[in-house]
Amino acid sequence: MEDRVYGIFDGGKEGPKLADLCRGLLDEQKTSWPQLSEAYEALGSAKTRLLACNGFSVRLLHNPGRLTSTDAKVDAADISRRPCFLCADRLPHPQKSILYRHEYLILSNPMPVMSGHLTIPHISHRPQTIIANTQTFLALAADLGKEWIILYNGPRCGASAPDHLHFQAIPAGQTPIEHEIGEKRRLVPYGGYQNGISCYRVENLGREVILFEGEEPLSLARALSRHIEVLGQIPRPPADEEPMVNVLCRFQEGKYTVLVFPRSKHRPSVFFRDGDDRIVVSPAVVEMAGIVVTPFQRDFDRLDCATIESIYREVTLGLTL
Ligand SMILES: [Zn+2]
Repeated sequence: MEDRVYGIFDGGKEGPKLADLCRGLLDEQKTSWPQLSEAYEALGSAKTRLLACNGFSVRLLHNPGRLTSTDAKVDAADISRRPCFLCADRLPHPQKSILYRHEYLILSNPMPVMSGHLTIPHISHRPQTIIANTQTFLALAADLGKEWIILYNGPRCGASAPDHLHFQAIPAGQTPIEHEIGEKRRLVPYGGYQNGISCYRVENLGREVILFEGEEPLSLARALSRHIEVLGQIPRPPADEEPMVNVLCRFQEGKYTVLVFPRSKHRPSVFFRDGDDRIVVSPAVVEMAGIVVTPFQRDFDRLDCATIESIYREVTLGLTL
């Protein structure tokens, strides 16, 4: 196993910066792991198209390599039958990792949505949930710094391994929503938070987005966990599981900005249609942030603003309706 550890980050001041370690890992893996170098080559020729929707933008990304993730079977029976691809002993041999604070492995994502895409699984096989892990989520954002954003997909709304706790990271500044939340006129105070935490609903994005800001990670982590728990009181089955959310965090100049996307369902009805009517779009956190991955060329060509707006309306959970 030891030759599979590229580096160790334990939070100490002496060692290398986490961002530098991650860049080094990605560079090393692109040369030593043929599957990854092929995936990056395919990514280089992936097509993109910008859609100016009503109040917001979406970037379509045609990437056939993402079909496995977009079309992944994620119901409990399917998951229990397949070997877990995030467990350390099942990682492909060329894959190396950075051991993060004794608890997580940082890996290059073998099917990247964009250059620099990282997957960050827990070292042990345990269910995907953020409510008990908001502190780690924020710590990862701070440790990786302003060049990356941290992503979370709930077990029933985008995580392709709902049985194994994991986060992701992508380079900062690549998603449309990161720019849209900078427009102050969109921000409407929400929730009456105190203790240095600001909270807003972000308007005119075609889907529900709750924005938290703060500089003190412990109180912010608690507010986030509580907010997600409260979402579970909005009735919808099954009530015993974590409320459906996607979450994104960036850390800049000492401040955490967290976006919560409350969800009502995982996939839109067009995903389940037959034949030519089927549109293979499976909204996860990257899609909710404004990058819509389309593994099939025909979907990339035909998706329009009305369809995107309808997909967002269908999968979002409106908090004031
Ligand atoms: Zn596992």
